[in-house]
This record gives sequence, C-alpha cells and structure tokens, in this order.
Amino acid sequence: MIHLHNILRHIFVYAALLILVVYFVATQRSLLIDWFVPLPWIGYLALTVAAVVALLFGRSRLFWCCILLAILLFFTHGKIAISTEFSRRLPLIALMLLSYLSFAKDSGFSLYNMVITLVKILFVAGISWITLSYLPHLTQNLLSPIYTFANNIDPRLNALYTPFEWLIVSLTLTLCFLRFIYISDNNHGALLLGVVLVAMMPAYTQFELHNVLTLTLATSFLYAILKDSFNMAFKDELTTIASRRALMQYVNTLGRKYVVVMADIDHFKKFNDTYGHDVGDEVLRLVASRLNKVGGGGKAFRFGGEEFVLIFPRKTPHEALPFIEKTRQLIADYPIALRDKPRPKKAPKRSTSNQSQGKTVKITASFGIAQRNKQNSQFSDIMKQADIALYAAKKAGRNCVQLANQPG
Ligand code: GH3
Ligand code: MG
Ligand code: MG
Repeated sequence: MIHLHNILRHIFVYAALLILVVYFVATQRSLLIDWFVPLPWIGYLALTVAAVVALLFGRSRLFWCCILLAILLFFTHGKIAISTEFSRRLPLIALMLLSYLSFAKDSGFSLYNMVITLVKILFVAGISWITLSYLPHLTQNLLSPIYTFANNIDPRLNALYTPFEWLIVSLTLTLCFLRFIYISDNNHGALLLGVVLVAMMPAYTQFELHNVLTLTLATSFLYAILKDSFNMAFKDELTTIASRRALMQYVNTLGRKYVVVMADIDHFKKFNDTYGHDVGDEVLRLVASRLNKVGGGGKAFRFGGEEFVLIFPRKTPHEALPFIEKTRQLIADYPIALRDKPRPKKAPKRSTSNQSQGKTVKITASFGIAQRNKQNSQFSDIMKQADIALYAAKKAGRNCVQLANQPG
C-alpha cells in the first residue's frame, strides 16, 4: 500500500543528499576538486566499506550496486584505454542495471544465488548494450521532439545525451521512482538516488567530481543498510510502533520515577475467529496507532501478540491515568469498518463477507498500571505488578483500567 507519510519520511535523507551534492558541485567545483585531488582512492574505499556492510547485513542488491559503481569509476577513469563509444554507453548501462536491481529481489549471499544474480546482471547488461547499439537508429525520426524539447530548455542538454539516451535516462528514473513510491524504504530510496547521480555523471569529466558523486552514493547505501536494519530490530513490522527490543533498550534510559502500563485487547481470539486474521491485524494496527498517540509523555511498544506496553517517564500512576482512560475510551468508541477486502486468509468460522459489508464492529482493551517504587525497582518486577493489575481489569469485566496494589 502507498503511504504518503512513509514516502516523505524515506525520501528526505536522499533528497537532502542530492541537494547538497548538486549545490556543492555547482557552486564550489574548484574547491571540491582541490579537496579530492589528494584522495583518489576515497570513492573506491567508500564503496568497499558499503559493499562489506551490505555483505554483513545480507543486502545483496546494494552490494551489486557498489560493484557496479566501482566498475563505472574504474572504466571511466582507469588506466585501461576504452573506446569513446564504450565510455559513453557505460553510464547508460549502469542506469539500466540500477533500475533492474531496484526491481530485483534481495536474494542474499548464497553462492548459488550470487551466480544466478550475476548471470541476470550480465544478461541485462547485454540487452542494454544491444538496445544502445540498434534502437537509436530505428527510432531516430520518432525522437526528434525530444531533441527540440531539450534544445528549448538548454542546448547543452543535447550535448550531454542524445534523444535516445534521454529516453533511457527518463525511463530508468521513472521506473526507480515508481518502485520507490510502491516500496518506500531506504534501500529503494538509495537506489533512486543512485540513478539520479549516475545520470548526472556524464555532465562532468573530472575524476574528482565523479569521486564526490561516488562517495555520496556509498554513504547513502551505508545509511540505507544501517537504517533499514535498525528499523527491523526496533520497530514492530505489523504495527510500525516500537518493538519489544526497543522497550528493553528504552528501559535502561529511565530514571527512578516512571509508570508502566500493560494493555491487552479484549477477547481478541474470538475476534480473530469471527472476522478473520487479516481484520485482526488491521485492529492491531489501529490500537497501536491510538496507543502511540496516548500523550502525557507516554511511549508505546508492542510487547507481543495483542499486548502492548506504555511507559510514562517521570509520572505517577494517577498522573498517567487520565491519558490512559482517554485512550481506552477512544479505542472502545472507534467503529471498525468491515470491508469485503482484504479477505481473511483462513476462512472465518462465521461467514461475514457479504453480510459484513458496510457494517462496523467495536473492540475494547484492558489496562493495568504499576509504578517503579522501592519494593519494585527492577523493570521485570514492575511489569509483573502491571500484569497483575491487567488481570484484575480483565476480572472486573474488561474495557477498564486498574491500578496495581502497590505501597508508595
Ligand atoms: P482476553 O480478553 O482474556 O485477553 O482474551 P483474548 O482472546 O484476547 O486472549 P488470548 O491470549 O487467549 O488470545 C490472544 C489472541 O491474540 C490469540 C491470537 O489469535 C491473537 N493474536 C496474537 N498475535 C496476533 C497477530 O499478530 N495478529 C492477529 N490477527 N492476531 C493475533
Ligand atoms: Mg493476551
Ligand atoms: Mg487479549
């Protein structure tokens, strides 16, 4: 599903990197060249670091991107003499390979998959070469509007790429952009930046400037790998709120005074059985998003299954109570629309598909509150107290909040 906030969140870093690099290359070109003259190896070093990190984190696509960029840099500026035709085609083949990689699967680093991916990459490179060799002649007349269009914007654009090459550049950019819109994560963001920067490369001849672009890309790959891995470890995949692992890390940062709230959805097993697991998952997302906006400085975590934990630093249970009550009420009042789609994976016990259209159902949750005090200074002890209070809330009829019976 396409989420605008997700797209904006992920494009920000790559757009900022792009603006920075374009700004500096445009305004500080000679300064950049002076800086990078004594560092001819920096691009290769950065690509090596990014490739090793990609290898360690199982990110095969970005690993192949690093190899591709190193080859591009080497053949464009290396000691090996290559024909101008070949050097002209190299960035375009790289663009086509980058867009192929943005659609390919991250197939990991088993020897078998590496060989298969290499064969596919060579195949795509071969197709790209053939395309660049034969199609421009066939489409020459068709593409004259591109020439005119580019000429109207800036005549230098036609010196940079031929109309057919502009077609390839626009196509690869569009494909990678659409792929990023569809799967808005850091890997696809970095690949999109990769296409933009590689497309920019022929505008410059100096090795130092290509080194700057390569360094920028390697940095964005590194960021993408580390950020996606961080998200995987500390964000719950289904609800996208902080995970249990994040909770355990957060606990270490807490002081002497805080409140722990355990929240548990009521009769959720029955809900799943009635409306299907997919509707259950939607409800989990909804409850998580409500808890995440609890206010009062409270931070929400998915503890596991349909259980959540809220932490209120520097608060007493009575101070946290109004925020929890308000959230409990919001959850209980929210009408959950039953749609025909997505259908439950497992056939629900009671058929709902036709009758349920346009219908709404409601869900409730119970809460147990405990605080850190002298008797319960360990987090596990406070959790135990919150769990006892939650059990009391369930016993009291559910859809309510109970305070732990703690002195002080
Ligand atoms: P109670 O009111 O006493 O809490 O009853 P309950 O049915 O909510 O409690 P129970 O612990 O028996 O059931 C929890 C259910 O939560 C079981 C499981 O089907 C469901 N569940 C756990 N994780 C997920 C999930 O990720 N997605 C969905 N859809 N259901 C889940
Ligand atoms: Mg439970
Ligand atoms: Mg439950």
